[in-house]
Amino acid sequence: MYIEIHGARGSMPVGTAEFSTYGGDTTCYSLHHDDGTLIAIIDAGTGLRRILPATMSAAETSGRPVTIIITHYHWDHIQGLSMCAPMWRGDVALRIIGPGDPRRCIGEAISPPWFPASITDMDVDFVPAVDSFVLDDVDVRSFPLHHPQGGRGYRFDHQDTSIVVATDHEAGTDADQVLVDASRGAGVLVHDTQYRPDELADKRGWGHSTWEQAVEVAIAAEVDQLLFASHDPSRTDAQVEEMVADAAERFGATTAARPGSRFWAK
Ligand SMILES: [Zn+2]
Repeated sequence: MYIEIHGARGSMPVGTAEFSTYGGDTTCYSLHHDDGTLIAIIDAGTGLRRILPATMSAAETSGRPVTIIITHYHWDHIQGLSMCAPMWRGDVALRIIGPGDPRRCIGEAISPPWFPASITDMDVDFVPAVDSFVLDDVDVRSFPLHHPQGGRGYRFDHQDTSIVVATDHEAGTDADQVLVDASRGAGVLVHDTQYRPDELADKRGWGHSTWEQAVEVAIAAEVDQLLFASHDPSRTDAQVEEMVADAAERFGATTAARPGSRFWAK
C-alpha cells in the first residue's frame, strides 16, 4: 500500500517559483494498493485536479465508485470539489465520506452565490464517517484531532501495512495521545507541520503543529516514516528543507510531502 501526494499546502493555494518543489496545491492525497489500484482519495483541496482530472472517464475507474474521505471542511480541504468536472458530469460515481453531515457541510460551501451550481446537481453519495469502516479489503479507523471546528485523522490498515493521515492537528491536548495510539507502528505518518517551533507562541489556537511536535508523535508511535504536511502558505521550498533537515537530526526517516511523490508502507 502506498500514499501519493497531490497537494500538501495548508490554508490557501500558492503559486510562485519559490514554492515549486513542495507545491502550491492544497491538501489532497490518494491511497493505493501496490499494483496502483486506487483505494481512496483523502481530502479534496486544489490538488484534487491531479488525481481526478477533467478528462477522467468511468472506464479509468473500472466502473467502481471513487471514494473521497474528508478530514474536515475548511476551505483548503474541499476547494477542489467545486471544480471537479467528473463530479458534475455524473459518469464517474463518487462517494464522499466525511465527519458529521458531509452533505450539509459541502452543500453549504458549494452553492450560490459562492458557486453557480448546487450539490443537488451532483451525482455523489454522501456518507457520514464512523469510527471504523472497511473500504474493500482496507480497514479504516477514524479518530478525533484537535482543530477548530474539529477534524479527523484516519488510519488505513491493509494486511500488515498501515498509513496514518493527520493533516491538521494542534498539539497540547488529550488528542495527542489519541494520535500517538492511532499511529502506533504505522509505515507512514502524514502529520501537520505548519509551524517552526519559534512561530508557535503567536499561533496558539490556530489548529496546527510544529515539526518538533510531529517528531515527538513519530518517535512515541514508532512509525517508519514521517511526512511533513500542511505546509504554511508562506513557507518556501528552501525553508521546508531546512525544517526537514532539523527534524532528521532527531528522526532520520523524515521528509516533506510534495506533489507527485509516493511513499510505501512496508
Ligand atoms: Zn483546517
